Amino acid sequence: MSKPTIAVIGAGQAGFQVAASLRELHYDGRIVIVGDEPHAPYQRPPLSKAYLLGEATDAQVALRPVAFYAQHGIELITGKRAVAIDRTRCIVGLEDDSVIQYEHLVLATGARNRPLPVPGADLQGVFFLRTLDEAHALRERMATAKRAVVIGAGFIGLEFAASAAKTGIAVTVVDVADRPMARALSKSMSAVFAREHANMGIQLQFNTQVLRLLGASGHVTGVETVDGQTLSADIVVVGIGVIPNVELAATCDLPIQNGVIVDEVMLTGDPSISAIGDVAAHRNVYSQDARTRLESVQNASDQARCVASRIVGKPHRYDALPWFWSNQGNLKLQMCGLPTNGCEEVVRGDVNSTACSVFLFHQGKLTGVESLNRAAEHMQARKLLTGRVAVTPQQAADATFDLKSLLPKPPTAAS
Ligand SMILES: Cc1cc2nc3c(=O)[nH]c(=O)nc-3n(C[C@H](O)[C@H](O)[C@H](O)COP(=O)(O)OP(=O)(O)OC[C@H]3O[C@@H](n4cnc5c(N)ncnc54)[C@H](O)[C@@H]3O)c2cc1C
Repeated sequence: MSKPTIAVIGAGQAGFQVAASLRELHYDGRIVIVGDEPHAPYQRPPLSKAYLLGEATDAQVALRPVAFYAQHGIELITGKRAVAIDRTRCIVGLEDDSVIQYEHLVLATGARNRPLPVPGADLQGVFFLRTLDEAHALRERMATAKRAVVIGAGFIGLEFAASAAKTGIAVTVVDVADRPMARALSKSMSAVFAREHANMGIQLQFNTQVLRLLGASGHVTGVETVDGQTLSADIVVVGIGVIPNVELAATCDLPIQNGVIVDEVMLTGDPSISAIGDVAAHRNVYSQDARTRLESVQNASDQARCVASRIVGKPHRYDALPWFWSNQGNLKLQMCGLPTNGCEEVVRGDVNSTACSVFLFHQGKLTGVESLNRAAEHMQARKLLTGRVAVTPQQAADATFDLKSLLPKPPTAAS
């Protein structure tokens, strides 16, 4: 009799991790990963950082060498899209008309670039930055580029800007918001990044929007903004967010709302189908919102481990502390928790330097911490949040106050 099959759709961070964790947990059934990109699973974070700078190779960004999959009995199908799910027959269909019968199906389909809805977006020299192939093409073009315009001052746009500035490209960033990473960062930390990007020679233009992209002979030459400016460019990088890849889940009528809806153990509306990573709209214990969709390596990996654990008969709810990092030039940002808008911002350290933290309080309770180049302090902050340890704004603001003293003491050998 054939062994039960776990089919994983999406060969990204989450898809890789669920398969790897199943084997670590001694799952001995069949595991198949299907990915539509032509590569084995790889890490996306270096694509906007070391990879663009030529400091990481394709092999170094791979999550594991290709041999890993055969060695661990994981069937890896790349370059093929899953196009339909038949929930009654427990079958997932691929674009070449082949099918995979599953006992459990894991949707790890991630997200894709949000397209730029203006004329000229299809000109040559306009790049997005999500996949290895996109990063490869961009890196090649950067070798001869002189001027770049970045549309979107979010994490990806600013990471690219910092990398490009380092290679000597003149960079201008435009955003409709009034500050960098406005959706995710406190005003205090945003201000530090605005100053430091200016110090890297990057021009930041806020409260403005792109009207159209200009071109000559099919190649982009500049960006026209709604306030009448023309910014010349030989490359344009678009980083205006992502759209979750829910279409496959929609083929079998799974509940969807800004992502595939899952419960606290990452199950969709069907007990034979889980969803994890960037595509999963889940109830996060650190959020006030009914549902959250997170785009981070931590979230993709931890949700994958949660599902693997359930499949091998050790279910637990998903309750990991969300955390995220972003490296922009020499600025190493770490963030944890899920603070709401309008939190009280308490700065620890000197915001005029490149090493400080911002503690975020909602109704007197710590809900998030952002740290710049303060890794040890950030680790303590994570422990405070995970342990739901009470900390006051006064303690957080006082750089001489030892945050570690608030943490429960580890048990001694005698206790
Ligand atoms: C340039 C860049 C830099 C980043 N930097 C950081 C960082 O510094 N820190 C951090 O925490 N996070 C970072 N992230 C975010 C992080 O990489 C993502 O949150 C993470 O990769 C999500 O993993 P995932 O497996 O859910 O989705 P993905 O990595 O998007 O993988 C999903 C895969 O499924 C495939 N797929 C979709 N539909 C189908 C289908 N029907 N059939 C087959 N395959 C399908 C997709 O093509 C894709 O390959 C970065 C992301 C990018 C793009």
